[in-house]
Amino acid sequence: MQCIVVGAGLLGLTSAWFLRQRGMEVTVVEQAPGPGLGTSFANGGMLHASQAGPWNEPGVLWQALRMLGREDSALLIRPRVLPSMLPWAWQFLRHSKPVRYHANVARNARLAAYSLRVLHEEIAPLGLPFEQAARGTMKIYRTPAELDAAATAAQRCREWGVRYDVLDAPGVAALEPALADIVAQLSGGVHFPDDVSGDAHMFCRALADAGREAGIRFEYEARATRVVLQHGRVHGVEVDGEMLPAEHCVLAAGAHCAALTRPLGLRVPLQPVKGYSLTLPLRDWPLAPRTPVIDEHFHAAVCPLGARLRVAGTAEFTGFDERLTPSRIENLYTLVKRVYPAGAERIERREAVEWAGFRPMSPDGVGIMGPTPIPGLHLNTGHGHLGWTMAMGAGKLVADALAGRAADLALDDYALARFRA
Ligand SMILES: Cc1cc2nc3c(=O)[nH]c(=O)nc-3n(C[C@H](O)[C@H](O)[C@H](O)COP(=O)(O)OP(=O)(O)OC[C@H]3O[C@@H](n4cnc5c(N)ncnc54)[C@H](O)[C@@H]3O)c2cc1C
Repeated sequence: MQCIVVGAGLLGLTSAWFLRQRGMEVTVVEQAPGPGLGTSFANGGMLHASQAGPWNEPGVLWQALRMLGREDSALLIRPRVLPSMLPWAWQFLRHSKPVRYHANVARNARLAAYSLRVLHEEIAPLGLPFEQAARGTMKIYRTPAELDAAATAAQRCREWGVRYDVLDAPGVAALEPALADIVAQLSGGVHFPDDVSGDAHMFCRALADAGREAGIRFEYEARATRVVLQHGRVHGVEVDGEMLPAEHCVLAAGAHCAALTRPLGLRVPLQPVKGYSLTLPLRDWPLAPRTPVIDEHFHAAVCPLGARLRVAGTAEFTGFDERLTPSRIENLYTLVKRVYPAGAERIERREAVEWAGFRPMSPDGVGIMGPTPIPGLHLNTGHGHLGWTMAMGAGKLVADALAGRAADLALDDYALARFRA
C-alpha cells in the first residue's frame, strides 16, 4: 500500500518510520532541503512526561491579561493576529475549565509515558546518535509558595507513573553543581528522574538516514500543494503541481496542516505559537551544566546537549512571522544570566545560534492525530510544546491505526472528531 507523509519533522519522520516497519511503501514529501529544519530544528531538547499539562491551565485568562503587551513576558499576543485567532482562542479558554483541563492533562500524560516507552524499547536499539542523556529534568523555584504548589502538582503526576523528588535548595545544588552560584536565591526544586533529553534535529537526520536505508523515499524541496480525492477518498497528493498517487496520506506539516485540510472541508484548529531558542557552546564555562533545568519563574528551559547548551522558551502569537524579535531573544540571555551567572560571563554572542520555530498548538493542548472523516487521510500534528516528547508514541499510534493494527492507546482521545463534539 502506498502512503505519502507530508512533513519531515519529528512527527512526520516517526510516522514514516513505523509505517515502513508495517510494510507500507512510504514517500516523505518535505518543502525544506532536509529533515528536521522546521519546528523540530532547535527546540528545548526535553522529552518530559512531567510537563504533560496543556498551557491553558485554570486561570490562564487572568495570567494572559496581566502579560498583555509586555515584550518581556512569557506570553505575547500581537494585536494584528487577534481577529483571526478568536475562534481558536475561545476554544482555548473553554478548555481551561478545571474538568476539561485535568482530562487533557491525563491524555497528554498517557501519551507521553507511552512515547518514552516506545523510545526506550523500539527506537533506542537503532543506536541513533542524538546526544541522548538520561539525567531527568529539574524545575527550580524561587519562593516557598511556588515550591509548595509545584510539589502538589507533581503529586498528581504520580497517578501517571511519573516519579519525582522534591529537593531543598542545597539538594538542588548537590544534584546539579552548576546551580551552586544561585542556591541562596532558590526555595528548592522538583527533580523528575525519568525524563530524558536529546537534540531533535540530530534525531531527525539520523532517523531519516535509517528510514532511507529501510526503503522510505524522501522528496526534499518538494511542496505539497493539495491532497487529491477521488470518490471522496485519498487518491494522491499534488506536489509542486505534479500528482503523486497514494491510497493514504499522513499530514504532519505542523501548523500548516490547517491550510492543507481547509480546501477539503476539514477544519483543523491549530495556531502557530512562536518560541525562541539559543544554542551556546559550553567550551569555556567554569562548570558545565549537566541536568536540564526549567525555571518556572521565566517560563523557560536550559538543556545541555553534549558540548552545547540549549536555552528555549517564550510564546508569541504572531502568525507565521519568522523574524527574530530582539526583545524575545534578550529574555533568553537574561535567563542564562539568572541561572548560571558565572557561565553567562563566558558567552560570546557571535557564537550563539539564535532561532525561532512555530509550535503547532491545538486549542485543548492535546495532539490531533489518527484518521479523519476522509477515508485515507490521517493527521499527526498539534502536539504544541510537547512534540519531541510525543513523537515516538504518536508516530507509532498513527501508523498502527493506518495499517489496521490494534493501537496500544485509545485514539479517540486524540482524534479530530473531538472538536465537533
Ligand atoms: C522554542 C521551542 C521549544 C520547544 N521545546 C520542546 C521540548 O523541550 N520538548 C518537547 O517535547 N517539545 C518541544 N517543543 C515542541 C516541538 O519542537 C514541536 O512540537 C515539534 O517539533 C513539532 O514537530 P512537527 O513534526 O509537528 O512540525 P515540524 O518540525 O515543523 O515539521 C513539519 C514539516 O512540514 C513541512 N511542511 C509544511 N508544509 C508543507 C507542505 N505544504 N509541503 C511539504 N512540506 C511541508 C515543514 O517544512 C516542516 O519541516 C518546542 C518548540 C519550540 C518552538
